[in-house]
Amino acid sequence: MIQIKQLNKVFRTSDVETQALNNVNLDIAKGDFVAIMGPSGCGKSTLLNIIGLLDNPTSGNYLLDGIEMGSLKESQRTSQRKGRIGFVFQSFNLIDELTVAENIELPLTYLGVPKKERRIKVDNLLQRLNLSHRSRHYPQQLSGGQQQRVAIARAIVGDPVILLADEPTGNLDSSNGREVMELLTSLNREGTTIVMVTHSQRDASYARRTINLFDGSVVTDETAERDTVNDDRHEM
Ligand code: ADP
Ligand code: MG
Repeated sequence: MIQIKQLNKVFRTSDVETQALNNVNLDIAKGDFVAIMGPSGCGKSTLLNIIGLLDNPTSGNYLLDGIEMGSLKESQRTSQRKGRIGFVFQSFNLIDELTVAENIELPLTYLGVPKKERRIKVDNLLQRLNLSHRSRHYPQQLSGGQQQRVAIARAIVGDPVILLADEPTGNLDSSNGREVMELLTSLNREGTTIVMVTHSQRDASYARRTINLFDGSVVTDETAERDTVNDDRHEM
């Protein structure tokens, strides 16, 4: 699904040049659950942003479903992203002035989904996330874990093929973090491809594959033997 070849990203400001990604080669198959780890500043977010079509590489190839995405203009990236890629951030990024249900509904409005269908999809997701009783509440009235689950609902309501998450538990305590990781795991079981940046070894243990970056390069790339190993580890 995702093929990255000899990818480089250089940020240039007036006086500094930073090579954020350095000759990255990476394939990610449909249905995979990948954790990207590594020290602060090693290029994790840059890689995720390129995969999520929020940014372009400086050179190299990025193919999504066989189509080159690496040299698209911003407007083309936006239209390719629509309904195809869901993004979740550490800081939730919910709209405070909108209710939970309205936040989740927003991408469907952008996609031009008719109102009746939007309502049904949002209600189904709210039920599934056990947040129906919160639908008319505002983000600030929710716990951090609930806010992140709303953000995940918003990211997946348009049925994206890939869900990208940049430190999704970074602002959460341990039990809220676990709740979010369990939700991501169940989405992955249902077929959503997930690429997640994390600092947490525990979060990475939910993934099937862990990629370590250092100074903009992939240094290790390990796939867990069996999915069920993770299940045992989290049964407590
Ligand atoms: P990580 O997410 O692993 O902490 P980033 O991908 O955010 O790292 O950043 C990688 C490197 O690129 C860092 O040195 C960072 O300072 C630099 N960088 C990231 N974004 C920009 C930008 N928009 N402009 C200039 N430098 C940037
Ligand atoms: Mg980052």
